[in-house]
Amino acid sequence: MIEITALPAFTDNYIWLLRDHGCVAVVDPGDAAPVLAHLEASGERLAAILLTHHHPDHIGGVAALLARHVVPVFAPAINRIPGTTHPLRGGEHIALPELGPGLGLDVIAVPGHTLGHLAYYGSTLTDAGAVFCGDTLFAGGCGRLFEGTPAQMQASLARLAVLPAPTFVYCGHEYTEANLRFARAVEPDNAALAARSEEVAQRRKLAQPTVPSRLAEELATNPFLRWDAPAVQAAAAAQLGHAPLDAVATFAAIRAWKDRF
Ligand code: ZN
Ligand code: FE
Repeated sequence: MIEITALPAFTDNYIWLLRDHGCVAVVDPGDAAPVLAHLEASGERLAAILLTHHHPDHIGGVAALLARHVVPVFAPAINRIPGTTHPLRGGEHIALPELGPGLGLDVIAVPGHTLGHLAYYGSTLTDAGAVFCGDTLFAGGCGRLFEGTPAQMQASLARLAVLPAPTFVYCGHEYTEANLRFARAVEPDNAALAARSEEVAQRRKLAQPTVPSRLAEELATNPFLRWDAPAVQAAAAAQLGHAPLDAVATFAAIRAWKDRF
């Protein structure tokens, strides 16, 4: 079975390693140093680089890794990231044969945070599946809309929301505690959210990561997946001064509030 390991980078980034059979695929190596240190210490061989989007904190280590390792680089096509060998637009299936026969990931287009943003989903990566979603869906939150529209981001999140509920969600940052503080402002009466906030606070006190989460807990507590929840719609209405027209309007109002929070 694949092992998925976090390498913390910068102040709050996670670089994800997929490891099996002495090989490693790395997701979003914003910094090469921790990845090279891992390879050195473990004796494992770099097999592939997967990039979710073009921001420097996710791709900054690619050039230094490619200087030492000749490996495929899977990346959003529209950003023309240097080193890309497999430009992707979503809908592809990529194979990682070094990590296991038949092992592969589905590529999902999730524009919003950036226009080229991709998520990588593997139904067999863990016993429950795993999705690497960069800065699109965070534990308890979602990424800022730097390039896309609220309609694009809401559609992208809806694409992730229909993955199997037990799926492990591997996002790009440790933002959970602050995200849940905002979530509680949106839904003060959500009991699952209150319980999650307490659990996350405990973990952070012990300096433990709160990622991965499960999609099921995101569906129950993350306001950016809860446009159908009456309490979230009411919070959006309070922001807008009138009832939101649809799911996109609900999402947009909550996202705009978070930007000011
Ligand atoms: Zn980003
Ligand atoms: Fe980021």
